[in-house]
Amino acid sequence: MMLNQINWDVVIVGAGASGLMCAATAGYQGKRVLVLDHAPKAASKIRISGGGKCNFTNLNVTPANYICRNPHFVKSALSRYSAHAFIELVDRHGLEYEQRELGKLFCLHRASDLIQILRTECDWAGVTVQLKTQIGKVVALAENGFELQTSLGALVTQKLVIATGALSFPKLKASGWGYEIARQFGLNIIPTAPGLVPLLFEGKWQQRFAQLSGLSIEAEVSVGEHHFAENILFTHFGLSGPGILQASNYWQSGKPIEINLFPGKSDEALLAELLAVKQSGKTAQSWLNQAFPKRFTQMWLQLYPLEGRLADYPNETLKSWLHHLCHWRLYPADTAGYDKAEVTLGGVDTDEISSKTFEAKKQAGLYFIGEVLDVTGQLGGYNFQWAWASAVACGLAL
Ligand SMILES: Cc1cc2nc3c(=O)[nH]c(=O)nc-3n(C[C@H](O)[C@H](O)[C@H](O)COP(=O)(O)OP(=O)(O)OC[C@H]3O[C@@H](n4cnc5c(N)ncnc54)[C@H](O)[C@@H]3O)c2cc1C
Repeated sequence: MMLNQINWDVVIVGAGASGLMCAATAGYQGKRVLVLDHAPKAASKIRISGGGKCNFTNLNVTPANYICRNPHFVKSALSRYSAHAFIELVDRHGLEYEQRELGKLFCLHRASDLIQILRTECDWAGVTVQLKTQIGKVVALAENGFELQTSLGALVTQKLVIATGALSFPKLKASGWGYEIARQFGLNIIPTAPGLVPLLFEGKWQQRFAQLSGLSIEAEVSVGEHHFAENILFTHFGLSGPGILQASNYWQSGKPIEINLFPGKSDEALLAELLAVKQSGKTAQSWLNQAFPKRFTQMWLQLYPLEGRLADYPNETLKSWLHHLCHWRLYPADTAGYDKAEVTLGGVDTDEISSKTFEAKKQAGLYFIGEVLDVTGQLGGYNFQWAWASAVACGLAL
């Protein structure tokens, strides 16, 4: 039978992480489920995520790992579908994975193994997945349900789930279509911005960082009260690496970020260490070379010169010189934008959505899950965990 001749219980737009997970969950409830996507392949973001290994969850998920205008919104779904629930699922399929730092779980071989698991779950649950399908107008029917204009013809469904993700990585067919549908039904959108994104610098800073391009060093990056002890990476355009991506979620234009180049050491402990080294007759250069690559030391001493032996300087001078190493304040010019951002901040306002079922409060039968919502995880598998958890909560409620 043609797909547009079936009265679907559920149509899900978006065959990404959340869409496929929701489809399988609803399919297992006995629903007739159709998943539509305009892309030629399902779940492209899973395929390229985590350097092709997909950091699919994190052992330490808490609501505090998410940015959302209503911080309570994520609690229900995250507690009902934990990282361990997802691990159980992949275990059942025999996926091999590894644990890396800070509780991050990655596929051991290929991220596409995970896509295969989701596709298999959809098959077992009797879900139909239709790719390369354009979706146009959506109309709410008078009785109940929706009609969708698509390149397959007009489709009718009782319930409609929007799982179209957000604006990051447009080359993977990301779109703002989910926001358009939300607006059509009168839902508020929290302004969007690129998240988990490299930071760009201008002028002298860009030149300095370009000279260090490819260098990665341990650091703690802070924005306001948010601190991330993870590596930073120098690039041709500025700074990247996990510490910077994390900080980018909280950075605001015109505001500084602060970098501590000796993470885990207090200012006092570091000063005591430097004063002990002072006794030994060493230079600042030789001391810095023990902690950093020579290229970095060179740049640092051009910025904050301290020539000759440490013993030639009073303690107060050394203290203020050290201050810059622990509280290096930098003003990024911009972010690298949606093209390079792993996620999108903002999205459909969660005040408009039930945190239990993910149904829109203003439109019965219309649901929003995954990244299209104003929920953004930190780096470390938290975004996929949100996709799984919101999808399962919704799938059970359909
Ligand atoms: C480079 C990169 C690396 C990442 N690495 C990680 C990681 O390791 N760990 C982690 O937790 N998160 C990671 N993320 C974030 C993660 O990929 C997303 O948060 C997650 O995929 C969101 O799931 P989703 O289902 O909401 O949206 P998506 O997975 O983006 O799926 C949305 C789907 O909707 C389809 N679609 C969009 N618009 C339309 C339309 N108009 N019509 C029809 N279909 C449409 C798209 O083609 C896509 O298939 C990464 C993201 C990127 C870009």
